[in-house]
Amino acid sequence: MKGLLGGIEAGGTKFVCAVGRGPDDYRAEVRFPTTTPDETIARAVAFFKEQAEIEPIDAIGIASFGPVDLNPHSLTYGYITTTPKAGWQEIDLLGRVKAALGLPAAFDTDVNAAALAEYRWSGAALRDVDPLVYMTIGTGIGIGVIANGQPVHGLVHPEGGHMLLRHDRTRDPFDGCCPYHGDCFEGLASGPAMHKRWGEAAESLPIHHPAWDLEAQYIAEGLMNIIYVLSPRRIVLGGGVMQQQHLFPVIREKVLAMLNKYVDSDLLLETPEHYIVPASMGNRVGTVGAFALAEKALKA
Ligand code: ADP
Ligand code: ZN
Repeated sequence: MKGLLGGIEAGGTKFVCAVGRGPDDYRAEVRFPTTTPDETIARAVAFFKEQAEIEPIDAIGIASFGPVDLNPHSLTYGYITTTPKAGWQEIDLLGRVKAALGLPAAFDTDVNAAALAEYRWSGAALRDVDPLVYMTIGTGIGIGVIANGQPVHGLVHPEGGHMLLRHDRTRDPFDGCCPYHGDCFEGLASGPAMHKRWGEAAESLPIHHPAWDLEAQYIAEGLMNIIYVLSPRRIVLGGGVMQQQHLFPVIREKVLAMLNKYVDSDLLLETPEHYIVPASMGNRVGTVGAFALAEKALKA
């Protein structure tokens, strides 16, 4: 019988570590705040050593906040690189975890891991969902892309959260809050952007507030661009802001209206509810995504 998989969701505010084999076989989990690299990595390692006493662990996956180095030929592969998070610049997260546990390990961005989890466990076997795009709309906006069964890397990795959208300043005079670009997608539509524009946190805005139609407009425009460029067969939306379920039908309607039947696909035109879908694993998507990475480490 093969052993368990270990997953680390390495976030800028908290680390979540878990063991299991997938969303339906999720054995144990621990959550703790991200403090110094030494302390945080030691806690993760201690958890897996403890769990391995109960049942062996075969491999570890790490779904990390970024920016990260994903180039296996680079000297700093597996590092968190230029993050603004104090103390975490140039930290060899993958190498340290691998060395401490002596297990095969794989490493990717948190959104690529989430995309992989959705791909691996939400129907890839049943229907063709390749390419799949996972988009998180939370503190930031990020996308993970799976194509030909693999997370897409490249120069770095896709940064679809920073694309430019149409910004009608008569309707929305807010300048945007991206420190790099001002009114890019993330600058206009992340959770903090909503908070700044409307003066209260997104989760406390009532559902009939005009904030939501504007938010759905930006998200729909972002998705429209992604549909044109990547031609995904499934788009999964997660992150804190997408807990507002009422956004989904409005986003689908706006996407269809903007595409104006130019993209001729029955899936999109007739069953958009199976095309633009909510994340299926709630707050486990990071750790389950890390399990999917661990599986890849075993196969590698
Ligand atoms: P992170 O992106 O840091 O991993 P989240 O995905 O939870 O974490 O995103 C946090 C952002 O999402 C905050 O800006 C918060 O205001 C917003 N948010 C969290 N929960 C909700 C909710 N239920 N409805 C709308 N916005 C939410
Ligand atoms: Zn930006």
